[in-house]
Amino acid sequence: MDPQDALRILEEERARGMALIAEAGSSESLEAAKVVVLGRKSRFTEVQRSLGSLGENERRRVGKVANEVRAALQGALDERRAALAATDETRLLEADRVDVTLPGRRLRPGSLHPLTIVEHEIVEIFTRMGYRVAEGPEIEDDWHNFEALNIPHHHPARTMKDSLYVDVDALLLRTETSAVQIRTMESQQPPVYVVAPGRTYRREAVDATHLSVFHQVEGLAVDEGISFSDLKGTLEAFANALFGEGRRVRMDPDYFPFVEPGCQVAVSCFKCDGAGCSLCGNGWIELLGAGMVHPKVLENCGYDAERYTGFAFGMGIERVAMVRYGVSDMRLFVEGDVRFLEQFEGAA
Ligand SMILES: [Zn+2]
Repeated sequence: MDPQDALRILEEERARGMALIAEAGSSESLEAAKVVVLGRKSRFTEVQRSLGSLGENERRRVGKVANEVRAALQGALDERRAALAATDETRLLEADRVDVTLPGRRLRPGSLHPLTIVEHEIVEIFTRMGYRVAEGPEIEDDWHNFEALNIPHHHPARTMKDSLYVDVDALLLRTETSAVQIRTMESQQPPVYVVAPGRTYRREAVDATHLSVFHQVEGLAVDEGISFSDLKGTLEAFANALFGEGRRVRMDPDYFPFVEPGCQVAVSCFKCDGAGCSLCGNGWIELLGAGMVHPKVLENCGYDAERYTGFAFGMGIERVAMVRYGVSDMRLFVEGDVRFLEQFEGAA
């Protein structure tokens, strides 16, 4: 190669190389430029290879320029590489940037189900009066669910039509929490003051006021000298605690096999104070069934019915919650619609 050509090529490659390096917009394109400018097949390498064929003076002259060009290009490459690395890092940081001035996403705390809220409230009112909480199994036998409660064989509740039987041995899903009364009395002597909240089951067509799975709270007090007026006083205190002061209680005769006498209990409306409104109709809200424990039930549990008397009451938690919150359809409690449920947030 002619020395003049070699020197010209070197100057051209220096200019071309500097431009390519400066134009490289990314680490990848910079590495590609390096191959073009200084790689094995580059014109620069071609010049270097030709040095051996030159005379000593020319070789030294051209070699010196080649070294300068290599150093200049290498320096430019290193500088550009560092600059691009810094840019990449900035880009990454930018992509990962967290804007601390943006408002945070609010965590939505869960809340208790309205039925749970009401159940807790009812139970708490009675535990404040000295009652303790009793529980029993949801699958009951005929004795605890019917027989001991003085429910006769011909009673409609005992038919397949109204109860959910589990198997042929007359095990069934309990139809009311009253079964817990029996289990409690079988396991202890008076005095007994218990409330039994729990799930109950009936073979019911589901509609706005009926569910096949629902909840009750049962109450039982057995002691010496308990009278009907104790029952009335207890329910009045309960109604005042649940719906606010000034509530009155009305008791109308009713029949339940396990009490004698039995009654249907209504509470004066907390919304209209008994004047009559859309919630109550005639000023009274029917809330529960109650009565004096039937002597036969006491005897069934081994109690001396001459010595002890008692009262029992039972209410549907769904019914209380509907009245309390003005809910017109019981099915809303089991549908799990968040729009319904979130209205009770913090209502505990
Ligand atoms: Zn009313």
